[in-house]
Amino acid sequence: MARTRKPVSKNNISPSTQRAFSPQRETPAIHPCVTYTLRPDDYVVVSTIATTQDILPHDAVGRPLPEMWPQVGAMLANLLNQVRDSGLPAAIALPGQAGSSIPCTCAPVSDGDGTISHLICTMMCDMPFTSTGEAEAEGARRAAVLDRILDNLPVGVLWVDAELNVLYANKAQRAREGILVGERLPIGPGDHHPHWRDAVTRAPVRWEDMPFIRTIRTGQSVEMIASIATGDGEAEQLVKTHPFYDAQGNVTEVIMIWVDVTEMQRLDQMKEDFLNEASHELRAPLEPLILASRFIQRWIGQPDHERDVKRLAGEVATHARRISRLVAEMLDMTRITAGYFAVDPIPCDLSRTILDAIEDQQTIWKREIITTGLDRPLSCSVDPERIWQVMTNLLSNAIKYSSAPEPIEVNAEVIPAENGVHASWLRLMVRDHGCGIASEHLPHIFSRFYRIMQSKQNGKGRDGLGLGLYICHSIITAHNGHIWAESTVGQGSSFFVELPLPPITPS
Ligand code: ADP
Repeated sequence: MARTRKPVSKNNISPSTQRAFSPQRETPAIHPCVTYTLRPDDYVVVSTIATTQDILPHDAVGRPLPEMWPQVGAMLANLLNQVRDSGLPAAIALPGQAGSSIPCTCAPVSDGDGTISHLICTMMCDMPFTSTGEAEAEGARRAAVLDRILDNLPVGVLWVDAELNVLYANKAQRAREGILVGERLPIGPGDHHPHWRDAVTRAPVRWEDMPFIRTIRTGQSVEMIASIATGDGEAEQLVKTHPFYDAQGNVTEVIMIWVDVTEMQRLDQMKEDFLNEASHELRAPLEPLILASRFIQRWIGQPDHERDVKRLAGEVATHARRISRLVAEMLDMTRITAGYFAVDPIPCDLSRTILDAIEDQQTIWKREIITTGLDRPLSCSVDPERIWQVMTNLLSNAIKYSSAPEPIEVNAEVIPAENGVHASWLRLMVRDHGCGIASEHLPHIFSRFYRIMQSKQNGKGRDGLGLGLYICHSIITAHNGHIWAESTVGQGSSFFVELPLPPITPS
């Protein structure tokens, strides 16, 4: 019977044997370990022995062991007392650096009559030995690092004792109150803090209810949002306190931490306002849409209601378009803020796209729109749907904020590039002769949710979420173009869009 032979390595030495004798074999790590022989009465070190020299203190002999390990001196002394008093070996885990632990064993050595002559104490060190001076230097370094971390935190940290003496104040806290370490926190005059209000009730905060005083009084942590008057307005701060107690349970110190939540609260408010507005804006066209479709159902096929049905069908289309525009704007805004908004440029004739947008608006609003520069093809590489969206938005705003019979003007022109290296620019303009935009609003109209509370000129009431121009700006920026507005109150507004055209190829 054929047998599969076990493969034999070329030199007939098994892989494990090869590994064992391989020159790259790793030397097993020697764990730093130190053994002290101590006098039992005062724990003075008589002799030492260590696995590696760098963990041995050069001046260990002649010094009491607990004194050489100041961080854990008390625990060591307890262990040594226990072994000396009981005559039995014992062990503990001492806290080491960075959360590690140092196993420490201690055993008594007795002479012939049972008297303990020495104690043998062994420690598995996690780091080279640090003498008292080194430990202090290390402690100071850590304190300095911690100080720097606390100073760079975007939160305020205040540490006071039960008499309100400041033990520590980080940079943010110092900047806010100007209180220095060693000073006492001021209380009074009057019943209330002059600058603090409860953010929820808006009531001034009484001195006795200031978070750190409440914590000293009750022994409990306190959390509140305070509105604090600052030089240039009001800041909302989330304040939390943490007490420290002595052995009898009395509060000895309090740490107070505060975070400025003004911006967070503002964003929250903005989100809430937006949701309110959005639901209102979506509901507004829904009601008439439902009503119109009910009447259409009732009247359809009745010759004397034929004209009503036609009119209602037109209204259904208008309301549905408005809902669809609002939903599309919300989706676009989500994409823009999430950072995944993109355009998809293709070579196309932009004058066709612009004329389509104009035709749609004319059909809906029956307004005169005069065009110049659109009677020839404008070849460029853009996302035609997105540019249609921009033109539709600018045109519908122009119609909304001006009134017939004043016409809307649309102009397209190619602006030659100044340096001849880059492409030329295609400049589009949408001009109306409506109410105009006041100069204080002009810099903000392309911002998210920015709306000016002015009455529309076509009498259809206010609509929109203040997203239209924000989205236009994002679309044009994604095309490496520019968008801006010029306006004079009472005379009208001109919106400009500039898109880069392909480089001029030399003929
Ligand atoms: P919405 O999407 O709500 O229509 P937009 O972002 O399009 O808002 O416009 C922001 C604000 O800019 C509007 O509230 C309006 O007051 C103002 N605005 C925009 N276009 C015009 C214009 N052609 N004339 C006057 N005001 C305008």
